[in-house]
Amino acid sequence: MTICARCHRWLHRTPVYLGGMTFGPKCAAAVAGAPTRRASLFATPTRVPDTRQRDLFAEPTP
Ligand SMILES: [Zn+2]
Repeated sequence: MTICARCHRWLHRTPVYLGGMTFGPKCAAAVAGAPTRRASLFATPTRVPDTRQRDLFAEPTP
């Protein structure tokens, strides 16, 4: 068995060879640039303005 070059865990599965180093399947995906599962938690949602509502700051207050 070999050790993962990123997380230093013992690899029970078939290692992935990247750049002469051995990685586990998850670490190989992370090193290769795949988005993580938690990436959606930190992504800011795109806000769409409500067209039915007037702009609060466009009109001067009387
Ligand atoms: Zn790893």
